[in-house]
Order: sequence, then C-alpha cells, then structure tokens
Amino acid sequence: MGAALLKERENQVHVKGEKPFNLVCNKDSLAGAVSQRACVFCGSRVVLYPIADALHLVHGPIGCAVYTWDIRGALSSGPELHRLSFSTDLQEMDVIFGGEKKLRRALLELIARHSPKAAFVYSTCIVGIIGDDLEAVCKAVAAETGIPVIPVQSEGFKGNKRAGYQAACEAMFRLIGTGKTAGISKYSLNILGDFNLAGEIWMVREYYERMGIQVVANITGDGRVDDICRAHGAALNVVQCSGSTMQLAKMMEEKYGTPAIRVSYFGIEDMSETLYDIARFFKKQYPDDPETDRIMERTKALVQEKVRDLVPKLEKYRKALAGKKAAIYVGGSFKAFSLVKAFRLIDMQVVMVGSQTGTEEDYRELEAITDPGTVIVDDANPLELNSFLKEKGVDVFVGGVKERPIAYKLGIGFCDHNHERKEALAGFEGMLNFAKEVYSSVMSPVWRFVPRKEQASASFSA
Ligand code: SF4
Repeated sequence: MGAALLKERENQVHVKGEKPFNLVCNKDSLAGAVSQRACVFCGSRVVLYPIADALHLVHGPIGCAVYTWDIRGALSSGPELHRLSFSTDLQEMDVIFGGEKKLRRALLELIARHSPKAAFVYSTCIVGIIGDDLEAVCKAVAAETGIPVIPVQSEGFKGNKRAGYQAACEAMFRLIGTGKTAGISKYSLNILGDFNLAGEIWMVREYYERMGIQVVANITGDGRVDDICRAHGAALNVVQCSGSTMQLAKMMEEKYGTPAIRVSYFGIEDMSETLYDIARFFKKQYPDDPETDRIMERTKALVQEKVRDLVPKLEKYRKALAGKKAAIYVGGSFKAFSLVKAFRLIDMQVVMVGSQTGTEEDYRELEAITDPGTVIVDDANPLELNSFLKEKGVDVFVGGVKERPIAYKLGIGFCDHNHERKEALAGFEGMLNFAKEVYSSVMSPVWRFVPRKEQASASFSA
C-alpha cells in the first residue's frame, strides 16, 4: 500500500479486483489517524436539527454548540427556531459543582421566550464526565412547562457518529405515539432521512402527492413536532440515509408494526425505482383495491414525464464529461450507491468511493456496482484521501465540508453533496442540477490558474 496508509488501516481499504473482498468496517477510528468522522453529539445534532419548531439546547461548553451551529442548513417552510444554536455554556465552576441548575434555568428561560413545541437537550462529553442527570432535569421542566423536554444521550466520546444517530432516534421515539392519528389515509407514509437541505423534501412530497399518497411526517427535514407525534399512524416508513434513521424505523416496526423500505432520491434510476417501490408496496397491501392501480398509473405517468424532460437536457453535460474521473466520500454509504449510478449516467468513471459509517453490507454492495480498480475505503483520513485523489487522477471530488479543502488544495473540482449544499440534488430535477454542478466544477477555467498537483508516486495497489 502507499505511504499515506497506516499499517493498522490497511484492512479498511479495498481495491476492487485485486483480492477477495474482506473490508473491515464499523469499528472505532484509529487513535491519531485524524478520522473525517464527527463525534456522537454531532451525529445526533445533524439528525434532530431540522425539526424546526423545537428548541435545541446544547448542554456543554460553547465550543460544542459552535461546532454544530446551523450545521444542516435545512430549510423550513415555517418556523426557524432550529437555526438558533442555544448552549448552557458550561464553565469551570459548573464542571466542579455540576450544571443541572444552570440547565434548568436555561430551559425555563428559553421555553418562556420561544414557546417551542418540544425541547431537545443534548449531552456533550463534559456532561458525560461530570454526570449531570439530564433525564431528571428534563422531566421536571416538562412537568413545569407542559411541553415534551427530551434528553439526547449523545456524549461525544461514547462511540462514533453512528451512536449519535442512535441517540437521536431514541429521543425522537419518545415523541412518536403521543399524537392523534385521525384523518390519516391508508395510503400514507413518513419520509425518514431526508433533511431538506435545499428544498428537496418539498420536491419529493410533491411526487408523493401526485401519486395520491399522503405524507404524515417529514423525519426530519422541515420537521414539525406535532407531525412526528402522530407518525405512528402512517402506513409505511420510507427511509433514505438509512444510517441515520433506520434505527427509528426498526423501533416503529417493533412497537407499531409500521413496515419500512430503504430508498434513495438521487439519480434518475433510484428516484424512479423509489416511486415504483412505494406504488408496489400499496398494491401488495391492498391487491383488490382499484385505488392501488390508480396509484401505479399516476406513478408511471409521473416518471415518464420527468424522464422525458430530463434525458435530453443531460446530453450536453454527458458529452462534455464523458471519461472524466470522480471520487466520492460521504457520511453514510447508501448515498454513495446512487452517486455511482448518477456518475455512470453522465458517462463519468468513479475511481474512489468511501464513507464514514458504512456497514459491511453497504461496502459489499459498493464493490458489486463499481468498476475494477476502484478504491473502496472506510473511515478515511485527509492524508489517505489526498493520496487516493492524486493517485487516481480525479477530476471531481464529491463530499462534505471537511472534504472541500482537500480537493481545492490539490486543484481538483469539488461538489458538495452534504450539509452545506444550496442546490437541490435529489429528485429528477436534482439530477440535472447535479450534472450542471459537476460540469461547472470540472470544466471551470479556474483550473488554468490553479494547476492540479502532480500525481502521487506511491501506488495503492496491494
Ligand atoms: S461533544 Fe465532545 S467531541 Fe463532540 S464537539 Fe463537544 S467536546 Fe467535542
């Protein structure tokens, strides 16, 4: 392996076709390797953040709140309380004598000032160390104020980002089942794991509405507490970004019998398949109900209309980008599947793909859909990514806020497919935006003035 790859990490990198697949993943990051992963608290914060009419209070030092301030950029069609980052700003004396009183005061003041529908209180590293009883404080404040006040057990040190997703799902699960389900259609669903980063949940909701399916709750993009409270009344959970919300879907299936399907809204192929899967689900549930045939008819009409409109528009980008190389590094690997297919649609070659929190099943699927020679990497660090990008001669790197500087320092185009994106990249319209964004980045004249760094001399072949 190349010089940038630490010996202890060799089994977390696989080059397709070089040896049998045996990638190790889902383990703690190697100490000192400077993982691209975020902490547990950050994991829970990104999942719950888009619940727009809830109060989000970070119980910890101010740095934790700053780190995750407005982290998702998730859009709301109404209240925007989620965009404010509140913190108890724990200081030395609080660490010595405990922060419970301060937390109670902060909650009472903020609830009186902002009248939220619910409050989430995030535990951070220091709170886990000093042992503040969040549960007791939240319970007392909930009784005093009459709104749900929910602790999120997300001490930063207790695992990796996945543990944060779990803490967020457990917190949300306390709300589910507390609302009334009257008026919910038997053709209904909850959208899980779309965070409405650039208004995408509105596009997807429109597709469902055109199909004749009611959306009960957005979990969590453009989320509302009341909708989440009645989410158990929906017939189906449709889970994108399964790493972050699949746990919630499993808990709902166990307690309320709500089935779940995994979907992706990225790329023409996956977006179409998602809509057909949902139409098929209702047909299977109610085979004799003619409404299910109508749902299928409406789905076909919708997909045909969108694809007919989109394919000719993609042609210009496909021609210009054919043969260019792409690398992908994302939080959860489910998104990576769709990106591999989306790049294929515009004739680009994916030469590296990795994620922070992929499972063995995810990586096996990635191995199956990528081309020979593709580097597949779990829990990478900046040095490794840097080396892979140079080694493979990448033209565009797709990632999030922490990957952007790696690309730019190398003189490589970058496409933000994470928290900070401002362009909708999901849905049919999103595929066109994606092609446009990749095109603008790869073909930008700026690269004449910022030449690409030389290819790495070290090889990543085993
Ligand atoms: S919870 Fe811990 S690891 Fe996470 S930002 Fe705060 S101090 Fe850092």
